[in-house]
Amino acid sequence: MSSGADSAVFGRSSATLSTASHGEGVYLYDTDGRQYLDGSGGAAVSCLGHSDEKVRAAIHGQLDKLAFAHTGFFTSEPAERLARKLIDNAPGDIARAYLLAGGSEAVEAALKLARQYFLEIGQPGRHRVIARRQSYHGNTLGALAAGGNAWRREKYAPLLIEVSHIAPCFAYREKHADESLEAYGQRAANELEAEIQRLGPDSVMAFIAEPVVGATAGAVDPAPGYFQRIREICDAHGILLILDEVMCGMGRTGSLFACEQDGIAPDIVTIAKGLGAGYAPIGAMLASERIYRAIADGSGSFQHGHTYHGHPLAAAAGGAVLERLVDDGLVAGVPGKGDRLVQALQARFGQHPHVGDIRGRGLFRGVELVENRETKAPFEPSRKINVKVKKAAMAEGLICYPAGGTVDGKSGDHILLAPPFIINDDQIDELTDKLGRAIDTAIAAA
Ligand code: PMP
Repeated sequence: MSSGADSAVFGRSSATLSTASHGEGVYLYDTDGRQYLDGSGGAAVSCLGHSDEKVRAAIHGQLDKLAFAHTGFFTSEPAERLARKLIDNAPGDIARAYLLAGGSEAVEAALKLARQYFLEIGQPGRHRVIARRQSYHGNTLGALAAGGNAWRREKYAPLLIEVSHIAPCFAYREKHADESLEAYGQRAANELEAEIQRLGPDSVMAFIAEPVVGATAGAVDPAPGYFQRIREICDAHGILLILDEVMCGMGRTGSLFACEQDGIAPDIVTIAKGLGAGYAPIGAMLASERIYRAIADGSGSFQHGHTYHGHPLAAAAGGAVLERLVDDGLVAGVPGKGDRLVQALQARFGQHPHVGDIRGRGLFRGVELVENRETKAPFEPSRKINVKVKKAAMAEGLICYPAGGTVDGKSGDHILLAPPFIINDDQIDELTDKLGRAIDTAIAAA
């Protein structure tokens, strides 16, 4: 079955979807035998490609021993191993890992942990969250409330907790022409200070942000110094900094945690996607010693939980993925491959009349499409250019992740690229060629 208007799976409009059959390296295949280069790892998930021997062996081995033991009764060897390795490789004083089944669960847990922390230390007045307009933190209600994507929030607005949204750090769109990148970064960060003052510092518990913005904007990396100023502001007011690295973490940007490149450490960090690399549904929330200690010395435990948190099979997969990323040097190879990808993108699109910006870090890259390269005017949203690029790319045999998120109505269509870390030079060229043809086809058709 290649497409199914009669699909029993409740989700996407199945009439437009092919049926995935199998995967090999950086390629996916459908049941009609068509091959697709996975240029975005789905949505920045498949960092090891689709047939990693070590991860498959780890899952099989764990399955033969133990698939599940409820965390209300047991911990497990794979969960302990994974948590230890995450902590050992995390920035700052991250002291504990809470294993979950995905990114939204990790963000929900982060928000609840922040709240419980302030109760434990005797500051019950702190409950407000500040986030950014150009952001995605997940689709469950707390995570959706934190996210700044108007389209995703719209239908559920009455159900969402109140969250303030400040401007993102998005130099291509927001930096003044006569301003340095550094000065812009400070100006953007200082919006947090202003918002804290507006809300009342003693009422704010956390600021949450993606170090490199993914799904809503196509790999927008922050200005130098931006996150250092954010960290300073949070510290000055005793506010927790939650970094959402669900998409940009696990080596995607060239360091295991993206924030390492910004020279800061979070109080809480969320990860998922690349942690399971698509082999298992897994996410994690990592918390600092200060937060862990406050709870351990206070009421004793984090009042949260899901049936499948700490799942042994998923943890075994995550542990093997982390070994591949760290011990086998795959993350160490990302900066070089990322440079190669950018060179190929620059060569193909550097002078393209409808490519306004090529950005990002490592193997996390974005291409912003514009109507007019000089004025940066976006395409009319009704032309749905990004959706058409996705379709044309699939027809070319390329998977890339489209987005049509707007920043205050000014920005338009983006294409996110996040290929597996095992991609080689020829495959990078294949990706760029196919993307070029898809963009030209989509714009001509729109
Ligand atoms: N945070 C970020 C930054 C994400 O990109 C995503 C998923 N795109 C999520 C959270 C939610 O993760 P999940 O889809 O696994 O729930």
